[in-house]
Amino acid sequence: MGIKNCPECGKLYMENPSGLCPECYAHEEVYEHQIGEYLREHGKASVEKIHEETGVKEKIILRMIKSGRLLVDGVSLISYPCDMCGVPIYEGRICAKCGSSFSKQVKEVWRDKENYGSQREGLRMYSKDDFKK
Ligand SMILES: [Zn+2]
Ligand SMILES: [Zn+2]
Repeated sequence: MGIKNCPECGKLYMENPSGLCPECYAHEEVYEHQIGEYLREHGKASVEKIHEETGVKEKIILRMIKSGRLLVDGVSLISYPCDMCGVPIYEGRICAKCGSSFSKQVKEVWRDKENYGSQREGLRMYSKDDFKK
């Protein structure tokens, strides 16, 4: 445990598992309660909507979602934009569609690398033959 700067207000605080100074952590507990109430009353909502309704900063809402603090009966009801295409999602960082196209892209990159390798090999052999003439 050491002294850290609170990511929320910038004040120095003794490091603790919440990752926030006690003051901001107390605020978050209030926010968490407010958001929980809202979700129970209205069901699913976007981060934007929650921000409008409760006044809690989107950054804070997102952090709470990602640490699993805003589940209602174990279910995530708040949507936030996919990191890649902006479609609303409820878990992870990207939507299922981007998830599958992302892994396809990764595979394609690897295939290109293999092709690139064999092309180079071919060129080298070709120039060696040239040299012999
Ligand atoms: Zn703070
Ligand atoms: Zn997406």
